Amino acid sequence: MVTEGSYDIRTGRGLIACPRCDALHLEKELASGETARCIRCNTVLARPRSGAFSRIIALALTSLILITAAMCFPFLEISRMGIGNATSLIGVALAYSQGWLAPLTVVMLAFIIGLPALRAILLVYTLWPLSRGRPPYRRVVPAFRLSEELRPWSMAEIFVIGTAVALVKVAGLANVSLGPAFWAFCGVIVVNVASDAFTSTATIWDAIEDAGMATDGREMVEGRT
Ligand SMILES: [Zn+2]
Repeated sequence: MVTEGSYDIRTGRGLIACPRCDALHLEKELASGETARCIRCNTVLARPRSGAFSRIIALALTSLILITAAMCFPFLEISRMGIGNATSLIGVALAYSQGWLAPLTVVMLAFIIGLPALRAILLVYTLWPLSRGRPPYRRVVPAFRLSEELRPWSMAEIFVIGTAVALVKVAGLANVSLGPAFWAFCGVIVVNVASDAFTSTATIWDAIEDAGMATDGREMVEGRT
């Protein structure tokens, strides 16, 4: 660990880059409640908050429960002249499990259910020991890096918007009612937004570094020099 105010320009230790404009800043230990902002574009660099990790864990677990509910309960129900049909997401997947649409179903389920669930699990894996003041698990660095890389690929909200648009079209032909799974999905979206608001990536990386893990990817840099 480098002491405060000193830095190594080769490895980037002791420096923090603005995620928006790349301006380099000297890293400082912040007290809980303080906020570090970029001097050039005012983007928040780090914002440690006491209890933030526990809150992110709680939101991730909530998200997992809602995703499980979204898979099991009926997603929507269509009825016309007394004849109705309700289906869950698993039911949709099974309906297409034969024939040439099968790969599409796998991809759909992976993007709207698999990725949000995987991100929630990775966040809990990363933050659980840190929130209790224990040393993090051994694979915490690749786990959190993967979680950050998956962030733009979680498509639950796009799925809900797409479903809503399709339902407006179908509503003219038959009675359509939304099942509990649809609302569970809306809950997942709200929980994810709240979780992202609480998550300060720099603060989590900092906590992992303070626990003695190397996070700067030097294993790759050393191979090239
Ligand atoms: Zn900036």
